[in-house]
This record gives sequence, C-alpha cells and structure tokens, in this order.
Amino acid sequence: MIFRQTFDSTSSTYTYIIASRSGGEALIIDPVLEKTDQYLRLLDQLDLRLVKVIDTHIHADHISGISELKDRTKCITIMGEHAPADVVSMKVKDNEKIKIEGIELISIYTPGHTDDSYSFIMNDRVFTGDTLLIKGTGRTDFQNGNPYDQYNSLFDRLLKLDDKTLIYPAHDYKGEMVSTIGEEKKYNPRLQVSSPQEYAKIMNNLNLANPKMMDIAVPLNKGESISEENQKKLIKELNISEDLEKKIKDRWNKKI
Ligand code: FE
Repeated sequence: MIFRQTFDSTSSTYTYIIASRSGGEALIIDPVLEKTDQYLRLLDQLDLRLVKVIDTHIHADHISGISELKDRTKCITIMGEHAPADVVSMKVKDNEKIKIEGIELISIYTPGHTDDSYSFIMNDRVFTGDTLLIKGTGRTDFQNGNPYDQYNSLFDRLLKLDDKTLIYPAHDYKGEMVSTIGEEKKYNPRLQVSSPQEYAKIMNNLNLANPKMMDIAVPLNKGESISEENQKKLIKELNISEDLEKKIKDRWNKKI
C-alpha cells in the first residue's frame, strides 16, 4: 500500500494520499486548496491516478482542495449525506463502502464537531476528521456542532473500534501524526469523563476564537457565493498570499 500523510502548516491540516500500488488508482482525504500542486506532483511522481477525493466535513479553517482537484483530474468528490447540496459529486451514508482499486473504506457518521462530520475506516486505521484528534477533540461551537452528539460519536462509535486501530486525524497542533484508540482512551483528557453532561460542560467552556479563514472557507466549501463587495473586504482583512488570493477568486468565479 502507498500511504502518504502531508501537512499544511497554515491550518495544521493533515491530508492523506492512499493507493494500493504504483501505477494504480489513488484517493485523497481532506486536501487543502493551496497544496493542490503538491498533491498533483506527488501523484505524478508515484505514478498514481486520482479517482476519488473525500472531505470529512465542511472545514472552517481552510479552503478545501476537492473542487480544484475535481476540475484538474475529473476525480469523484465525496462527502457524507449531511453535507450541503451540490458541493460534491457523491454522498455517502453511514456504513457505506468507498472503493478504489485494491482499497476499501467504510464511512461512519460521527456528528458533533459539525453535523456533517464523517470518519472513515480502512483496515487497521481510521480517519477521524475533527471528531477525534490526538489528545483532543474538535470544537463543537459552530456549524451545527453539538457536544452531546460528539460524545455519542466518540463513545458509541470510534472508541468501540479495536484498541490497536490507528488514528489519523484531520489536524494536529503539537506535531503528533498518529495515535491509537487504546492510547486515546487512556490519555486523551477530553475522554476522561463519566457522562455526556460532563463532556458537554468541557466543550461549552472552551471559549475559542473563530478560525481566521472561517468567513471565506465555510461559504466557499459549502458552494455558496459571496457578494463582490464582501469578497474584497474579506480578502483585505485576511492578508493572504497573492497565490491564495488568486485561487480564492478563481473558485468564487466558478461558483457564480
Ligand atoms: Fe473542522
């Protein structure tokens, strides 16, 4: 198997490139728009053909690369069925199989961070999006997040997986790249609770600032348009690179 984990240092996002063999089909999970060229170069160097790309949920902290990857490779874009209409070409339900040559993923609906959050199991590992992070869990205070739903997703679904299951999250802010269900059960401070109420109390008192990119990333990732006036204002406020500004404008133009 070919398994690559790449990192976007601006949003601390992990992206996964998966294939069963060189010369075969590939799948990408949670790509970041600015890194599209890097993914395409890597696919080319590994002699892989991108056929499917998945977002675990509508991201608020970065602009997803799935639409640009679709435009450039004609791959199928995938999200869970709770994602807003029209952002992807294929939607999956809970416990559905996603296949590429020699690889099979199983979707699990794990709401809580957002109401459209999915995790994906592949053999000995699980891609947890922002539902279960390494020694943390994804915030539940926007995009229809709900700490009680997240508690159920964690305790009734993800933590029921074998203790040896490898965890590959969508982000890490401290440099850890992989964990296991067993380690998280023992050492993840958010999981040391005895009731949903106790978990919700922790999550409701985090008082985090909104992600810097949120006002641009959420509408773009949902496929919603923004007025030209608003676009200018948001870009000015963000102080982003020329390259990213060009990519954002390009995506906006394609939405209209
Ligand atoms: Fe997220």
